[in-house]
Parts: sequence; C-alpha cells; structure tokens
Amino acid sequence: MSKGNIGVTSDNIFPVIKKFLYSDHEIFLRELISNAVDATSKLKTLSSVGEVKGDLGDIRVRVTIDKAKKTLTVSDHGVGMTAEEVDKYINQIAFSGAEEFLNRYKDKTEAIIGHFGLGFYSAFMVSKKVEIFSQSYKEDAKAVHWSCEGSPEYTMEDTIKAERGTDIVLHIDDEFSQYLEDATIEGLLKKYCKFLPVEIAFGHKKEWKDGKEIELEEENIINDINPAWTRKPTDLTEEDYSKFYHELYPMQFDEPLFHIHLNVDYPFNLTGILYFPKIKSNLDVHRNKIQLYCNQVYVTDEVENIVPEYLTLLHGVIDSPDIPLNVSRSYLQSDNNVKKISGYITKKVADKLAELYKADKDDFAKKWDDIKMFIQFGMLTDEKFYEKATTFALLKNLNGEYAPLQEYMDKVRENQVDKDGNLVLLYTNDPDAHYTYIERAKAKGYDVLLMDGELDVHCMSQAEQKHEKLRFVRIDSDTIENLIKKEDTAKDTYTDEQKEGLRKAFEGLLPSDADKLRYNVTCEAAAADALPVFLTQNEFMRRMKEMSAHQQGMNFYGNMPDSYNLVVNTNHPLIQELVAKETSEQVNEEVEKDGKKETVVKTVYSLANEDERLKQLIDIALLASGQLKGEALAKFVNRSVDLLNG
Ligand code: ADP
Repeated sequence: MSKGNIGVTSDNIFPVIKKFLYSDHEIFLRELISNAVDATSKLKTLSSVGEVKGDLGDIRVRVTIDKAKKTLTVSDHGVGMTAEEVDKYINQIAFSGAEEFLNRYKDKTEAIIGHFGLGFYSAFMVSKKVEIFSQSYKEDAKAVHWSCEGSPEYTMEDTIKAERGTDIVLHIDDEFSQYLEDATIEGLLKKYCKFLPVEIAFGHKKEWKDGKEIELEEENIINDINPAWTRKPTDLTEEDYSKFYHELYPMQFDEPLFHIHLNVDYPFNLTGILYFPKIKSNLDVHRNKIQLYCNQVYVTDEVENIVPEYLTLLHGVIDSPDIPLNVSRSYLQSDNNVKKISGYITKKVADKLAELYKADKDDFAKKWDDIKMFIQFGMLTDEKFYEKATTFALLKNLNGEYAPLQEYMDKVRENQVDKDGNLVLLYTNDPDAHYTYIERAKAKGYDVLLMDGELDVHCMSQAEQKHEKLRFVRIDSDTIENLIKKEDTAKDTYTDEQKEGLRKAFEGLLPSDADKLRYNVTCEAAAADALPVFLTQNEFMRRMKEMSAHQQGMNFYGNMPDSYNLVVNTNHPLIQELVAKETSEQVNEEVEKDGKKETVVKTVYSLANEDERLKQLIDIALLASGQLKGEALAKFVNRSVDLLNG
C-alpha cells in the first residue's frame, strides 16, 4: 500500500470544492457517469480497431445505493485504470494558477470543474470518503484500490477485482443523505443522463402485482442511447420525431408544428433537432426550453447566450462538443465559435422556413398564426433573419388571405397610393369595433389587413423604416378620404368663421377627463353619406402609446392621455342644417399690428338651442367607436326616446 499527497499546488482543494461548488453539488453524478461512459466508449473504440479482443460482454453502467453502508456506487465495464493511470489522472491534478482562477470564478461552479478536470473530484462535494476500484483492460494489469477521505492524503494498493472496469464508491456525507434516496438519484439520472450513449441502469423495473410492488428481473434503464438527433434524418420518420419530442418534454401534450434537424461538422460540430411549438401566449413560451448537450450529456437549458434570443422560443436539443461549456456567460457571448453557431442556427432555421413556405404556401399560411410571434420576434431582433424572413413573413387580410409584404404591396398599389406617392396599407386590430370604418374602406375598393398580434405594431414600424413611402394606417385613424388622400377630395363652401362656430358648439359639450381622455374637434368635408360626426385617432400617437406598453424608457408616451379627433362632417345634411342655424354678430377685437394696437371688426358665429341634438350626435360618434358606456349610454338611450317623442 502506498500513501501520497494529491498533487495540487493549492494547499488543499477539498475545502475549495466543498465551499465553492456547494451550490450545484448535484452535478457530481453527471461527472462520474460521464467518466464511466467515456471509459466504456473508449473500450468500444479499442475493440473496433482490434486492440481489445473478444466479446465486450456486459457494458452497462450501473448506479447502486447501499443504504446500510451509506454508499452510492457508479460502476462501469470500460477501459479501467492501472495504478500508474490512477496516479497520473487522479493524483496529479493540473492545478496551476488555482488561486487566481478561483478568485475570478468564485460562483461559477461549472467553470471550475470543467476547466481543471475536477470532474472526478466533484464527488467530494457530497462524500466524506471516495474509493476507486479499477481493473484495466490491459493484459497483466493488476487491479487497484484508491481511497481518500477528503484530505490531500490518499492511499493506493493492489486489489482483486473480477471484472474489467471501474467502481467509484462514494461514502455519502450525513448532510447529503438525500443522495441515498432512490427518488433523488433517479431524478438526477433522468435529468443529466437521459440520452447518454451507453446504457445506464439504476435498480430494476417494478410492477404492481396483487396490490404489492414487486421488483422484476429486468433492469431499469434510464436512457435512450440513440436519441433522434444523433441519427440520420433519412433514417427517421415523422413519427420518430414526434416520439422524441415527447420524450424530451413528457408534460407537453401538443404536437409541434414542424422540426429542423441540424447537422454540421465544419467549421464546428453541431447536431440537434429544433421544434416549432404552437405558441399560444407569452406566458407558456418558456416552459419547455431548448436543452443543450455536450456529446449526449445534458449540460443546461439556459441557452440564451448560445442561440439568438428569439430562437429560445423553440423547443428541442442542441448538441455540440465545441461550445465552451465551462466558461463564464460573458465569455460565451464574445466567443467566436458561439457566434458562428448562433449564426448557423439562424440561417438554418430561416432556410427551413423559406423552404416550407415555397413547398406548400397554403399549409404554411395555416400554420402562420401559430409561428408568427416567433418569426416577428426574430425579424425585430436579428437583421440577418429579417432579410431572409421577408420572403415568408406573411400579412393576413380580412378575407383570410395571406401574402408576404412585397407581394401584398404590389397587389394593393394600384388603388392605395396617395397623392404624395405613399403606399398606404390599411389595417384593423379589432374588426368588430371598426366595423363602420371597414365597410367604408371596402366601398372604396381598399383592402384591410388584420393586425391583432402582440408584435404587429413593432413590425409595421420596422417595415416602414425599410420601405420608403410605405405607411401603415389603422382604419379608424382618419376620415376615409384622408386615410389615402387623393387629389379630388371633397370640399365644403363654409367660411372658417362658420366652421369655428360649429366647432366651439361641439367642443363645449364633450365629455372631459383631461388626464385620461382628450377630444379634439375638427370640421372636415367628408363624404355626404359618412356619419355626421365620428371619431378618429391619430396613427402616430396611438402607435407610440401601444409600443410604449411593451418597452421600457417610453413612458412619456405611455402616460399621455388617449386622444381622439371628433370629426364634424360638413358635407352631411344634418351638419349643413346646423350651420344654417348659426347666428352671427359683429364684435370688435383688439389686435396688435406692427407694435400698435388696433381694433378690427370680426364676424363671430355661434349656435344656440341645439345642445340636445349636438349631444346626440356626439354620442352617436362615441357609440360607433365603442366608447359610449355606463351612465353616458343610459342618457343617450333616454334622449333618443325623448327625441322620437318630440
Ligand atoms: P476529465 O474527465 O475532465 O478528464 P476527471 O477528473 O473526471 O477529468 O477524470 C480524470 C481522468 O481520470 C479521466 O480523463 C480518465 O482518464 C480517468 N478516469 C476517471 N474516471 C474513470 C473511469 N470510470 N474509468 C476510466 N478512467 C477514468
């Protein structure tokens, strides 16, 4: 038996392991099983090149718990280690610059472990003693027994071990007794080892018989050793992809819409399958996340820095040995490999979407509402994706027809260009509320888009920036004549003074709640068959307000009161009748002219004794926009009855 000191320059790495790695101690199991799987894979490789002769026999990795002895054991039948190898790989830990590193990565568990190959030593996070029993595959090699009690001293001696491979025996610390519970270990195995390439057995299958749970002969295998992403797309059916999806997310009952199989080996290694889920609302977006694997070992589902943010809305797996998993997050962001990977995934996803659209436009359109949020999010946040997405990002009109922006613009151009050459795209976010506006637009032969998605307003602004002379205008934002202003707009014959008299009469009767709601009265010559009085809402202000609801730093707009224009239609017979009833008087008014005060005579118009009718007209305008409610609505109803009686 030999004794020695573990070769680290730091005085003692164990307090370090316990203290700094404490928060994430469960990963010890992943580390030990990864080692066991690696040793098994190495053996398979050696066998395939003829360096190991004969049948490999049972190569399952087994995890066992001995409650009485308080041990947890990971056993493999892999290559094993000779005494020299244990000395080299376990005793001599490369630990240069340890102090500096530890200071830098105080709270980055994974960083420390991966960086220094402390994988095996993570066992000490939860154990008071760790033993290795190993028998190398090498001929004439003696089995070795290594033991260490969490101090830099270890013992090493020859031993007898019947089978090739390694047993790592953890004497679990009392404070970590949860790792002696079957349920805990099974949970961890399912989390980290579900897709490892070598079978991992934990206990036996169980069955209920005569009201009792009995253990079967058959071992309980944790993992699927050939997960779909490691296989060739040509070998997989749609059913396989669906099955794998549910394997990944057992609690997800919806089928994904479609998938993308990633497979690249240059300039980096990456495989994976991404699924497009149905995104129902913002809420359940992040319930199932993309899982990141490194050679089939689960690493994390926090992939924010590896894939662009909008892709985190997808489901699935990414597996790459080339993603530097063991470094800090800020480093990941600046890593060139990571950038390339993210660029590659973006391209692949965009290409696949373009391909799907081209192959079957109708089918793509059917899925559009479900994938729209994801695509719009991508377009808004990733310029490269935007460029590709313009071919398949769709607009939907009120007839349920879908088309990409360019195609749609070409379609409506003939009828919807205003006198200044702007192409005006009309939209509604609420067809019921905008019914009258929509009918008027249709009568003019205009097309109306349905834009009721959470990101639509943002996408419209983006499209306007990209296309000169393109404007999106909500259907209720102005009179139909003004929405798309053509040369031949209707006129009226009234003087400004007459209109001012009319305007004031309406203004004096408007409901007011200056903090929340403001009305601005204008007189305009709209069509004779339009309503006598109606509401519009300025596109720019409304849109700013809507966008500020989603964005920080735009509170200025968010806090502004809602403001509407009350348009008095001077072409309507009812309004013309009111103008005719206006009375005029001459008033003297002092004005300043060239620094001197002067008196001028002005004609001022006013309208008296028409309050009830004006109120009725205002209420009709509010009613037509769905804004007449509560007491105001009751008053309107009563007034209507009175008017009919009178
Ligand atoms: P890493 O796995 O990152 O190299 P570890 O500390 O986990 O670091 O392991 C160090 C080395 O010890 C491994 O590279 C391997 O050579 C050897 N080793 C660990 N576990 C086993 C095992 N179960 N079978 C054979 N060799 C092992």
